[in-house]
Amino acid sequence: MAYKISDSCVACGSCIDECPVGAISAGDIYSIDPDQCTDCGTCASVCPNEAIAPAE
Ligand code: SF4
Repeated sequence: MAYKISDSCVACGSCIDECPVGAISAGDIYSIDPDQCTDCGTCASVCPNEAIAPAE
């Protein structure tokens, strides 16, 4: 399982430098590479818009 960024993302950039494994990519909406994500949850805790959550 990996964390996932939802449509609530406003591309503020808060999460990208916090990921310890560099799994987050910038874009209109940021995205997480599920093959790199280690499920640490750091990004979810820094997102000001609660756009990041564990994938179902
Ligand atoms: Fe990176 Fe951790 Fe977020 Fe996965 S849960 S994208 S490893 S910060």
